[in-house]
Amino acid sequence: MDTTNSNKIILSGMSLDELTAFTDSIGESKYKAKQIHNWIYLKSVSDISQMTDISKSTRDKMSDIAVVTDVKIKNRQVSSDGTIKYLLQFSDGNCVETVLMRFDNRANLTACVSSQVGCACNCKFCATAKLGFIRNLTPREIIEQVLTIQRDTGLKVTNIVFMGQGEPLLNLDNVLSAIDIFNKDFVIGIRRLTVSTCGIIPQIKKLAQMDFQPTLAISLHAPEHSLRASLMPIENKYNLDNLMQTLKDYVGDTGRRVTIEYTLIKGFNDTVDCAKKLAKLLIGLKANINLIIYNPNDKDDFEKPSKDSIQKFKYVLEQSGKKVTIRLERGSDIDAACGQLSNKYR
Ligand code: SF4
Repeated sequence: MDTTNSNKIILSGMSLDELTAFTDSIGESKYKAKQIHNWIYLKSVSDISQMTDISKSTRDKMSDIAVVTDVKIKNRQVSSDGTIKYLLQFSDGNCVETVLMRFDNRANLTACVSSQVGCACNCKFCATAKLGFIRNLTPREIIEQVLTIQRDTGLKVTNIVFMGQGEPLLNLDNVLSAIDIFNKDFVIGIRRLTVSTCGIIPQIKKLAQMDFQPTLAISLHAPEHSLRASLMPIENKYNLDNLMQTLKDYVGDTGRRVTIEYTLIKGFNDTVDCAKKLAKLLIGLKANINLIIYNPNDKDDFEKPSKDSIQKFKYVLEQSGKKVTIRLERGSDIDAACGQLSNKYR
C-alpha cells in the first residue's frame, strides 16, 4: 500500500480487492469500495470530497487517513496539434514525462507513459539517456500518469504505449502489474496496450510464456550490428541476430505479430541501402514496421531526414511485402521527445 510523505494511504492504483480491504478497515461496505473504484478509474476525480454519492461522514472518515493522489503536475505543454506533454512529480521529488496524443481523424486517445525515472540503456539519440538511470517506477506511479491525464483533460484514455522514459522490460514486474490494472480496472483491451523495448532478450522470452501479451514493439533503428551498436549500446549485449531469432520464437509461441520501430535519422540510417538491409533482416518475421521521423533535441548532432529519403525508405520496405506506417509527428513545437522536458528542468 503506497502512502504519502505524511503517511496517508494513496487510493489511486489500488485494485477493487485492495479498495475492499481499505473500506473494510474503516468499517465500510464492499459496495463503498466499488463506488470509490468508479470515482477513481471511470470519473477520474482527484479528491475524496468529489465522491459525491458517498455520504459526507464517510468521506470525512476516509479523508482523515487517505488521499486520492499525491502526484503533482510540475509542467504542462500543449502543442498546436493537441498533444499535451506533462512533467509529473512524485513525492520523492523525482519527475517523469507523460504525453497525451490525439489524432484528428481518430477517436483514440493515446497516453505515452514512462516506466522508469531516467534510463540505463544510453541510446545515443535519446534525451532520457542523458539523465542516466535513477529508479524504477512503482505500478501506482505508472498508473497515476494515465489518471493524471484523465483528471486534467476530463477525457478517457483508450490506448497506452510504454514509450516514455525508461526501458519497460527492465522494470517488467511493475509494468505487468500496471498493465493488469489498465486492462481490468480501466477496461482497456490488451491489444491497445503496447510495450516498447530496445530488445532485452531474456525478458522478451519471459513475456512469451505469459498467459496474455500486450503488443510488443521493438526499437530497432538500424539493420546491422555495427551501425546499431554505435547508436544503441544494448546491441553489444543482445545482438541483432539473437534478437531476430527471439522475435521469431516469440511470434511462434504467442501468435502475435510484433511491431518494428525504426527512427529515421538523416545520413545515418535513412539510405536505400539501409532499407534493403532492413527488408532482408525481417524476412520470415511476422511484423509491421513503424517508421519514426527523428525529432531533434537541442543537445545532439542528429538531424531530421528529408521527405524524399523517408518515401524511398518506405517504398523499399513495402516492396518486400511488409506493412509500413509512418508515425505522425506529434508535438514538434513542444518538448515532446522523451526526456527533453526532464532535461530542461534539470
Ligand atoms: S530510447 Fe528508451 S531504452 Fe533507449 S535510452 Fe531512451 S528511454 Fe532508454
